[in-house]
Amino acid sequence: MKYILQLKKVAHSYNGRPVLSIPELNIAPVSITGLAGPNGSGKSTLLKILSLTERCSSGDIYFDGVKSVPLSKQVRHRITMLPQEPYLLKRSVFDNIAYGLKIRNAQTNLAVSVNEALKLVGLHTSFAARQWHELSGGEAQRIALAARLALKPDCLLLDEPTASVDMESARSIRKAVLLAQKEWGTTLIIASHHRSWLNDICDRIIYLYNGRILECSFENVLLGPWEKTGEEQYCTTLSDDQVLYVSSPPHPESAAIISPEALDLSSREPMQNERFLRGVITGIFFDKLLAGPRIHIVCGDHRFIASIDEKVFATESFRPGNKVRVLYRPEEITWLPQ
Ligand code: ADP
Repeated sequence: MKYILQLKKVAHSYNGRPVLSIPELNIAPVSITGLAGPNGSGKSTLLKILSLTERCSSGDIYFDGVKSVPLSKQVRHRITMLPQEPYLLKRSVFDNIAYGLKIRNAQTNLAVSVNEALKLVGLHTSFAARQWHELSGGEAQRIALAARLALKPDCLLLDEPTASVDMESARSIRKAVLLAQKEWGTTLIIASHHRSWLNDICDRIIYLYNGRILECSFENVLLGPWEKTGEEQYCTTLSDDQVLYVSSPPHPESAAIISPEALDLSSREPMQNERFLRGVITGIFFDKLLAGPRIHIVCGDHRFIASIDEKVFATESFRPGNKVRVLYRPEEITWLPQ
């Protein structure tokens, strides 16, 4: 398969401090990749390296099969990134959106392209006449996105695109990037804390931890930040307001995993030291090598796989769409090294 982006033996340091180490990463064309991980895990750095806006300390990047270097002409036309805090030129909205097209000498009618881009992000074409300071935070973010979409890029990288905007802007941003993927085959790479959004739209979610890609599957990863709730007891709130309890984390942002065998889906009451989450079954999988089936469950924005006993499977009714209680013991989780 030909990948649109490939990293080989990429490492990055800031002032001699290593922050990223990626032996290999392949991104398929027209795919949607999510980047998740705690603050400081290297998501922004990875996006800058993938978008060829920052040079990595060592390693190689291939765009469309060709070894590429930051800001080379061939790439500049095809990859674009929306940073966490995009910068608008101190000019009109029209000039902001048209700027990228002009410097790329795009053979398009600028007025048509600007209007199209504004509509894509859900803004009226009258916005074109506004100045950069006549915009709310959400509108400014949408204009910054419109400026990137006007280029119809092959690859669009987004760093927390909906983190600090109002709900309507977040909706428009989500809709616009998906449309770009569908209409023009734009490959999307999105770093976001909104895990349920990533779960919904991504073909694949990469979980970064301390500058490395976690080799375990994204399921059964427990993410903080953790808050202390009692003696040696910490918790985090999931997107559906359920509370997930853990034993003392080494760091408030640490991640943990829980093994599929440590999760119990039987309908008995929780025992002492046990907690539970309510979830919905999304799939049931059989593997000849395993003793019993594996049940996939979603609880808020967390995904779990539980390995269950054949006897339990035979006596209880597990079907996709059914609600279940996922019993676990907080002390049975394993903290990942910092
Ligand atoms: P994330 O996007 O996951 O929050 P970042 O890629 O921003 O993570 O940061 C990864 C690590 O690199 C952090 O420890 C951060 O402090 C450090 N870092 C990021 N940018 C710089 C920089 N320009 N100079 C020095 N250190 C940086």
